[in-house]
Amino acid sequence: MNRSDPSTEPSTDLSRDPSVTVAPLRTPLGRQMWAMLRLRCPVCREGPLFRSLLSMHRNCPRCGVPFEREHGYYLNSMFIAYVLGFLVIVPSAVLLAMRNVSVALFAAIIIAETIIVWPLIFRYARSLWVHVDQLLDPRARPDK
Ligand SMILES: [Zn+2]
Repeated sequence: MNRSDPSTEPSTDLSRDPSVTVAPLRTPLGRQMWAMLRLRCPVCREGPLFRSLLSMHRNCPRCGVPFEREHGYYLNSMFIAYVLGFLVIVPSAVLLAMRNVSVALFAAIIIAETIIVWPLIFRYARSLWVHVDQLLDPRARPDK
């Protein structure tokens, strides 16, 4: 029988490996930001926020917390999306204007860029909003 000694096996837990720097992820804010970037539930940080590209789960599939706290809850994420869109589109528009491209090419590039980045902006604006809201007004896991 092949019995392995746990002290000689390489550890798969990166948080215990001193050569791996994960210190920012150990803080509550770091864990919340990591969950936000991975589009995870703001409460349990495990369940996915989205079931498809543009469709969110009503409740967390892992802990069951409802993502939409009240009617119109995602209105603030629209403001976040507006700012994110501005930060993405304006540098491209300025660069294209500096290169003196034609109006048709300018419009085509900006429209294409908007269509490509819009789903990302939508998802991250909602994720950022639900995580900021969780930090400002924390909720406990309903399953605990
Ligand atoms: Zn959850």
